[in-house]
Amino acid sequence: MIDKNSTTLLSIKNLHASINTTEILNGINLTVKSGEIHAIMGLNGSGKSTLAKVLAGHSAYEVTAGTIEFEGKDLLALPPEERARAGLFLGFQYPIEIPGVANTQFLRLAYNTIQAQRGKDELDPLEFDDFVREKMKLLDMKPDFLDRSVNEGFSGGEKKRNEILQMALLEPKLSILDETDSGLDIDALKIVANGVNQIAHKDNAIILVTHYQRLLDHIVPDFVHVMQAGRIVMTGDKKLAMELETRGYDWINADQRLATGVNA
Ligand code: ADP
Ligand code: MG
Repeated sequence: MIDKNSTTLLSIKNLHASINTTEILNGINLTVKSGEIHAIMGLNGSGKSTLAKVLAGHSAYEVTAGTIEFEGKDLLALPPEERARAGLFLGFQYPIEIPGVANTQFLRLAYNTIQAQRGKDELDPLEFDDFVREKMKLLDMKPDFLDRSVNEGFSGGEKKRNEILQMALLEPKLSILDETDSGLDIDALKIVANGVNQIAHKDNAIILVTHYQRLLDHIVPDFVHVMQAGRIVMTGDKKLAMELETRGYDWINADQRLATGVNA
């Protein structure tokens, strides 16, 4: 997975962020290179979703210190839509519903926006239909998804598959998937994991935010980070995730700021 020709996609340094003057992120440092899969784990309330939303440019959060560079550019200077155009993708923990907008329209608009940015051809509805159906096979999605309103009445598992479909279409350089595993039964989990594994390649990177180890049985991360109280307090490899599964989170002390994993 990790190769010596990889380039740094994301560089987060000493990131502090607040909401309504309450500090949630408390000095995050994280470097993600192309070809890497990172897992961010941690108990509920540790700040995982906040980190994902700050990366996406959610307006409710104020960055009070630190820097985020994406391919060497100041990400914080870009509005959310520019971040998406630059190749950042966020799969939300709770995907929004858009009644009255057919999924296929939504997906084609998103796809064509990115294509235009990359100086590539846009697809008309018929061309797009062929293209999207191929991608849907990857995720074992039924074609009727295309005609339904975006996420409206979708089950938890269907919403998550729809998120992965968006990712497959947009081919982002960096994807952050927030709790993509929550609400999935084991079959849906395998399909989503399989989709992610097919999308992952040496020129992109993926950050999986997850509470549980079980997703990591199907997607093997290169790095596992543990968040606690708005900081990354430990980093290891997949063995760390297994250790968390058996021992829980209690043994990790926020004061143990190890640079490398317990098992390394
Ligand atoms: P995680 O995704 O790890 O469960 P979150 O990033 O959602 O954690 O939340 C981190 C902390 O930020 C929690 O203590 C949560 O209560 C707090 N928080 C999140 N959103 C808000 C908000 N809108 N107002 C106040 N506190 C918030
Ligand atoms: Mg969360």
